[in-house]
Amino acid sequence: MDKYDVIIAGASFAGLSVASQMRGKVLLVDKYDIGTFQISACGAPYDVVKGIGCEDSVLQISDTFSFHVNNKIIDIHLERPYCTFDFAKFCRILNSKNDADFLKAKIVGVKNGGGLFTVYTSKGAFSSRMVVDATGWRASVAEKLSPGYVHRDMLSFGIETEVPYQCQTFHFLYEPDLIQEGAGWIFPCGEFSRIGVVSYTGPRKLMGELDFLLGRFNQKRQKVHGGFFCYCLKEPVVEGVFVAGCAQGQTLPLTGEGIRRCITHGIRCGEIIQQIVDGEMDFREGQNQYSRFALRARAGYDFLLKVQNGLVKTSEENIKIVARVISNRMVSKFVERYYRGI
Ligand SMILES: Cc1cc2nc3c(=O)[nH]c(=O)nc-3n(C[C@H](O)[C@H](O)[C@H](O)COP(=O)(O)OP(=O)(O)OC[C@H]3O[C@@H](n4cnc5c(N)ncnc54)[C@H](O)[C@@H]3O)c2cc1C
Repeated sequence: MDKYDVIIAGASFAGLSVASQMRGKVLLVDKYDIGTFQISACGAPYDVVKGIGCEDSVLQISDTFSFHVNNKIIDIHLERPYCTFDFAKFCRILNSKNDADFLKAKIVGVKNGGGLFTVYTSKGAFSSRMVVDATGWRASVAEKLSPGYVHRDMLSFGIETEVPYQCQTFHFLYEPDLIQEGAGWIFPCGEFSRIGVVSYTGPRKLMGELDFLLGRFNQKRQKVHGGFFCYCLKEPVVEGVFVAGCAQGQTLPLTGEGIRRCITHGIRCGEIIQQIVDGEMDFREGQNQYSRFALRARAGYDFLLKVQNGLVKTSEENIKIVARVISNRMVSKFVERYYRGI
């Protein structure tokens, strides 16, 4: 059986960020070829995308969020712009920053015994000293070691499509006519836009809502992608496995933003694991440090969850009042800094 220092399950934002910090004998495992399984609208802060060296994948940059509430558009100017990027290119660039072996296979089981993990895949078993679960909301490894780790009652669901419609800002739509207990978005991507809808409470039948939104811009649905994301922050270490990204709940409630946090938490996770591999840090200390880091923004996360829960109950008029207040330059600066600190 092949033996590795670390096995990283999942090769998307979190898994590739972990791998980017590793130098030892590392195995990256994913069901799909890297960069081929896009679920996301790929909107993220430009400084984060540039910081990890993936700026060549950027499609469009904007410093304005436009909120559509109650037939009004309220613009909020950002101190630090956001961008959209090409998922395949982003993953290709990020993947070029590691020397890991890649295995295209499904992880079907895991065993922890005698200080060594055995990871069972559709293409055989592999052993390692450490394992990272970066498999997204399914938390495919953690759930096997600790059944019930995934809170299926705390999942949002979203879908989107790319259409030849051009816009200049990031649009967010909070309109009950479009979707109850959810939101819509239009993200600018140069020659085209990504248009999508999300339901905070998780029902999966959203094609009608998506078509309704597309119809407003005389657009027809193209290939659709999307999926669930988890809005429940969970234990960062499960039975000795480091859990990273959406698997641990790093996608934020309310905004559904996860890429920024998957990258920053993935990088920190990778740094800590490399220190353990190098013998510079004790395994237990590494797990403690990662847990503290992964849970440090819990208060902000809980606050966003309260706002998400409140939003689905409040009136459109109240949302409009809040959006107006936030559009004040001083307030928006404060809100943006607070939000970026989460
Ligand atoms: C419709 C939609 C739009 C979104 N838009 C944005 C956005 O614009 N900006 C933003 O910041 N966030 C967005 N998000 C959230 C964002 O997509 C997630 O936060 C992010 O993808 C999580 O990254 P991850 O690496 O943790 O997991 P994922 O991106 O989910 O990747 C998990 C990887 O693990 C692999 N995997 C899973 N199970 C197994 C297994 N058993 N064996 C092997 N491999 C496995 C999968 O193939 C996948 O490659 C959006 C989400 C949705 C649903």
